[in-house]
Amino acid sequence: MELKRSDFRYDREPVIRDFSLKIFPGEFVGVIGPNGSGKSTLLKLLGGILPGAKSSVYFDGLDLSIQKRKTLAQSIAWVPQENPMVFPFKVSEVVLMGRHPYLSALAFESEEDCQIARRAMDLTHTSQFANRLFNEISSGEKQRVMIAAAIAQEPRAMLLDEPTSALDLKFQMEILNILKIMNRDQGATIVMALHDLHLASKFCDRLILIKNGTLVVEGSPATVLQKEILKDVYEIDVNIIRDETDGSFLISPEAQDLNS
Ligand code: ADP
Repeated sequence: MELKRSDFRYDREPVIRDFSLKIFPGEFVGVIGPNGSGKSTLLKLLGGILPGAKSSVYFDGLDLSIQKRKTLAQSIAWVPQENPMVFPFKVSEVVLMGRHPYLSALAFESEEDCQIARRAMDLTHTSQFANRLFNEISSGEKQRVMIAAAIAQEPRAMLLDEPTSALDLKFQMEILNILKIMNRDQGATIVMALHDLHLASKFCDRLILIKNGTLVVEGSPATVLQKEILKDVYEIDVNIIRDETDGSFLISPEAQDLNS
């Protein structure tokens, strides 16, 4: 996946500016940066989600703008942060929708499609509410269902926008572990936006730090998660503590003097 000197604006102000980035097959990449810095937009650009903005985005060396949406969906799964679905679909139906890129027009899902969807639900512990309505489950449960649908899509790359934002500690770890297994065992490329810098450093091989739509620094968690860099980007003093059990980094914001 590659962006070549991409620019993007929704209306007047550019949100992504002259951005070049290569994501290599099989990488596990975290996109980090302050609120509004352009993380979601960057992921949407990489996935060809933003209409009219595809001309400098490539997948497998091919310009996304010349690929059919269905072909693209067999390669790239997109897990948005919010799920604006309003129709009363059952959870199992939502997961089965992950198979749609493989169906010909008007065809029904096969037994194999149903099996793949069931496996994805087992993996994400969503089987127990398979028959409930998607609109009537909690936001954390919805998040796991959307990830199950993306897994059922059997993509080569997954783009995820804050996939753990609504999850408790146990499910955060569970979902990130599932992504790690997909990455390690199936060679899936994972690119996710994440606010939690500690989790980002635990799971990602490479971090992309952005601010105001431009790349600040990229590299291993040790390269990117440095006191001075974070102060510059997040405008706050932090202490960085290394977790010796797995080499990840805990970011502890310094208490502010409320009297000054
Ligand atoms: P992040 O994911 O880092 O919080 P976003 O990519 O969501 O950042 O947003 C980057 C900027 O683009 C913000 O200033 C935001 O207000 C703006 N923006 C995001 N989506 C839209 C939209 N659909 N229309 C107009 N502006 C948008």
